[in-house]
Amino acid sequence: MNQGIGSWPARRARKTPERTALVHQDTEFTYRELDERVRRLAHALRSLGVARGDRVAYLGPNHPAFLETLFATGALGAVFVPLNTRLAVPEFAYHLADSGSTVLVHSAGHTETATAAGPGTNVRHRVTLGAAGAGALGYEELLTGATSGPLDEPVGPDDPCIIMYTSGTTGRPKGAVLSHANITWNSVNVLVDTDLSADEVTLVVAPLFHTAGLNMTCLPTLLKGGRVVLLEAFDAGHVLATVESRRVTYMFGVPTMYDAMSAHPRWPRTDLSSLRSVNCGGAPVPARTIDTYLARGLAFSQGYGMTEASPGVLFLDREQTAAKAGSAGVPHFFTDTRVTLIDGRAAGPGESGEILVQGPNVMTGYWGRPAATAAAFTDDGWLRTGDVARTDEDGYAYIVDRVKDMFVSGGENVYPAEVENALLSHPSVRECAVVGVPDPGWGEVGHAVVVLAPGARADDQRIIAHLRDRLAKYKIPKTVVFADALPRTASGKIMKPAVRETYPPLPAEPTRP
Ligand code: ATP
Ligand code: MG
Repeated sequence: MNQGIGSWPARRARKTPERTALVHQDTEFTYRELDERVRRLAHALRSLGVARGDRVAYLGPNHPAFLETLFATGALGAVFVPLNTRLAVPEFAYHLADSGSTVLVHSAGHTETATAAGPGTNVRHRVTLGAAGAGALGYEELLTGATSGPLDEPVGPDDPCIIMYTSGTTGRPKGAVLSHANITWNSVNVLVDTDLSADEVTLVVAPLFHTAGLNMTCLPTLLKGGRVVLLEAFDAGHVLATVESRRVTYMFGVPTMYDAMSAHPRWPRTDLSSLRSVNCGGAPVPARTIDTYLARGLAFSQGYGMTEASPGVLFLDREQTAAKAGSAGVPHFFTDTRVTLIDGRAAGPGESGEILVQGPNVMTGYWGRPAATAAAFTDDGWLRTGDVARTDEDGYAYIVDRVKDMFVSGGENVYPAEVENALLSHPSVRECAVVGVPDPGWGEVGHAVVVLAPGARADDQRIIAHLRDRLAKYKIPKTVVFADALPRTASGKIMKPAVRETYPPLPAEPTRP
């Protein structure tokens, strides 16, 4: 019996065969069609030598083939490895080699990368979504040529399902091994904690190769029998147009996506009345983003999670968004959290410490990295998130920042996220990042990198003066530099190590004797 997610299309086809599962450009697949395509693909992969435990990689934008490959590998008890489309060839080759993938499915647009990265890895077959040739098999031809007979592979809940790489915000991405149970429980958490229904039209525009794009709305919608509308790339105007034309009811996005949508000229004239739930997470959500969406009358909910937790950990129901502004919510139904101080004591209300997670959605470890896995868990089995949080008297958690990004100035802890939020309240500041830099007097001081709003003037003294009314002195950055853009991950997160490297403080003006 297959108890894994590879059985979902067949189970859905048994219940709701004629309902639409996937919409992509002009193509639509019902659950019956999706089930048949997945069975064909699984047989085709099996004929390419894919067996239980083997890894199959996918490189390409959001596309039905991504989900079909996920389900087909799951149906074989093999492991799916989605790859980040923004990686450069050497990074991508590292992920291919690290995962030991034997088959690589890729889009036509990624042919060059896929070909360049193959040598030196275990990849035996390339399958392209474009035209076959030059060493690659054609995806659609493979499906047509394969049988659609039933699959009989026994798959258990604890078998590995996906190796999902972390975003690489703080260093080299690590492959989190997520089991079928991990992913299923995450979907169960979502379905218990939200009102996501079979009538949902869910827009999936966040990249599927990150856990939030795949697991927070896409898979729960498919489990429930709703409709998933796939967009290949984020374009604010196109997203707004799609919400209107497809009557989208549900969507997940990272904060930068929501900011780009509300800043787009289409925003005031787009009919968003179908949208009954706007879910945001994956990175700190600026207060002004929440305010903009609430002011538009939209139901805005926030979540906090990480790849290692498949990813949902905390969820703030939309009913609470205004009352608990800035909170990432309470733990998902089947997941537990606790906040501990540096000495391991439990933090009381209002005290900041590291947030730890336990639950059926938490990974068993990183692929091939026993040392990193051991470091990721406490002795009693809690996942260390590397994030600082505090909890209020009602148990609502507020994510303060990453442990790694905190710095100490004159003996006081400074959390850059708080400073960034204060900077963002200045109308001239479009984006910003604050990092701690060495300082002879204070140990470390804040350094701000600012992207100005269109038409705004670069005036660091005014920006610093703005902070004086809002923050304690030790939190105020000593230096400000201006940049055209900030280095971000594919999911829009600011890469602080790259910020430090690319935009250090300018050398101080030489002082006259
Ligand atoms: P890496 O682990 O490779 O450095 P990453 O931690 O960014 O990258 P992900 O697993 O995609 O990789 O992201 C999880 C992290 O994103 C969390 O640990 C947290 O720092 C941040 N995050 C997610 N949701 C929120 C949120 N709602 N508020 C604040 N931070 C968030
Ligand atoms: Mg991380």
